[in-house]
Amino acid sequence: MGISKRFKWRILITSIALLLNLIVLVIQENFSWWRLAKLPVNLFLGWVVGLQIDKYLHSKRELDSTKSVLVDYTYALDSSVDAIGITNEEGNHEFVNEELARLYGYQKDELLTIHWEKLFTQESIDYFHENFFSEVKKNGYDRSEATGLKSDGSTFPLEITMSLLNETQKTLVIIRDITKKKQYEAMVKYKAEHNELTHLPNRRKLNQDLEIFKEQSLESSLLFIDLDRFKITNDTMGREVGDKLLIEVAERLNFFSNRMIKTYHLGGDEFVVLILKENMDFVKNIAMDIGEYIKEPFYLKGNEIFVTASIGISGSPEHTDDMNELITMADTAMYYAKLDGKNTYKFFNNELKEQRERRTLIEIELRRAIRNEELYVVYQPKFDLHNSKLAGIEALIRWDNPVLGMVSPMEFIPVAEDTGLINEIGNWIINDVLYQMRRWQDKGYSPVKVSVNVSQRQFRDNNFVPFIESCLYSYSIEAKYLEFEVTESVIENIDLVMPKINSLKALGVGISIDDFGTGYSSLSMLKNLPFDTLKIDQSFIRDLIGNSQDLSLVKTIISIGQTFNLNVVAEGIEKEEHLHLLAELDCPMGQGYFFSKPIRPEQLEVEFFKLIGD
Ligand code: C2E
Ligand code: MG
Ligand code: MG
Repeated sequence: MGISKRFKWRILITSIALLLNLIVLVIQENFSWWRLAKLPVNLFLGWVVGLQIDKYLHSKRELDSTKSVLVDYTYALDSSVDAIGITNEEGNHEFVNEELARLYGYQKDELLTIHWEKLFTQESIDYFHENFFSEVKKNGYDRSEATGLKSDGSTFPLEITMSLLNETQKTLVIIRDITKKKQYEAMVKYKAEHNELTHLPNRRKLNQDLEIFKEQSLESSLLFIDLDRFKITNDTMGREVGDKLLIEVAERLNFFSNRMIKTYHLGGDEFVVLILKENMDFVKNIAMDIGEYIKEPFYLKGNEIFVTASIGISGSPEHTDDMNELITMADTAMYYAKLDGKNTYKFFNNELKEQRERRTLIEIELRRAIRNEELYVVYQPKFDLHNSKLAGIEALIRWDNPVLGMVSPMEFIPVAEDTGLINEIGNWIINDVLYQMRRWQDKGYSPVKVSVNVSQRQFRDNNFVPFIESCLYSYSIEAKYLEFEVTESVIENIDLVMPKINSLKALGVGISIDDFGTGYSSLSMLKNLPFDTLKIDQSFIRDLIGNSQDLSLVKTIISIGQTFNLNVVAEGIEKEEHLHLLAELDCPMGQGYFFSKPIRPEQLEVEFFKLIGD
């Protein structure tokens, strides 16, 4: 079929020539050898004419098909979502598709007259010349990101792929607008680097920024900020209020942000303020201002809420040039700001680091203390100051650890409170004390009221009261012989502990306020709350003689006791003069080294049970 088409006119004209010649030969009367000899010549001429016609028609067909292919290609390129252009050696456009024109905001014809450099920012052009073109030349193509410059002067991010059309010295350029991709990447990056609740930069961003500081050898101060008593607010007012509070705290902290100061939210109630190096006084003032600002009341869902902040401060490079350590050091300093009574700031120093390490060691060792039977209880007698009879006993915990030796409860009880170990330890003591009381009663001694110190955190344990009830029951001890000593800090969170105190009172257990005078208890609270005893803090007894202020304070506490019908116990009686003076002041009870240090139960039995009063 193809061959017959290509030879069509040659065959046709040669056939016509053959036919005509044959007709002429047949119809002529005289046969002529001459005419016969002309036949091949005529056939050849017919073939040549046919050949020319075939050639013409063939090239016309070719041209037509090329034209239609080109139209198809242009259509296809115009339909492409990518912007496509072809530039010549001079950098002028020879071809542009619809998308390229649309993307840049030009007409197609207009774009054909524009040099490629008009389509990019200077920064991108420089980059092309310095790096990109050499790669394209080397490999025949390359891909990169750059910034496009539109006809209206606006810019946009793009991905460009350039391929050399080798034989023609032309370049095929494909451009893709990556604005959406960049927006998505920016959104993902933002989320990864910001706190979801407060939208402040988070710990990851802090680490990145600190790395940059380090690379550029910038000096900085880091303020680690932790809200005081946030957990209590969260627990009592609900998570929604807690979240709102965090958002407002974040706003207040962000108020301090500027070119030199940046605020981060690490999570929970922990924030960081990073200050590009300034002198100590400046940093100190910022810490104080933050403390003051956080202290202002927050108004949330109809509640007036007060919070304070504890702030730890570390500096680079004076404390460390390791940025992780810088955060840990500020955290450590913050921890000691909390121990210092909260609502304050503290600069890091090496002593704090050592203290923190010891605390960590205490925590590790304390976790095994009960199992390893390292804890035991000692008992300090309390006396009726009028007749010197044994009137009560205070149980005090002791810890003898193989690594740390004897550790004071003043040191390990706060660690136990922080870590929550206090619940387990507290229950262990209660059980041990009641067991001891049972043994004393079994030996025939008249029962004496024993007081046990309890921490505020124990009151948060819903098992606390049922546990006491079951111990009293198991050891058959009357509740009136058990008393709990709580510090004034318990009163600060009275709403939280009140239901438990009421349940204990209902059981018949006594409640005593320990270290009275060191915290803040208002008189109205004493009037309304079901306490039985006030224990005057030993610091007031120590200087009783010679310090008129302490003397009048002690007098006042004794008269408060009389007014509210509360028992009063003076702690820390070390000298006979203390005893006489307190008896004169009509203080009903006392305890202290003058009578006895806290001792083992067997020794107490031997030395003091003969003094049991009625
Ligand atoms: P606290 O309840 O006020 O106990 C009185 C502390 O003063 C005891 O110290 C006691 O040994 C000491 N002391 C008694 N008389 C004198 C004296 O005349 N002079 C001096 N300088 N000190 C005297 P300790 O046993 O080291 O306990 C310290 C604190 O640790 C206690 O203060 C109490 O707050 C806490 N604590 C002790 N045992 C427990 C416990 O089982 N549970 C809880 N939660 N806290 C406990
Ligand atoms: Mg006590
Ligand atoms: Mg005390």
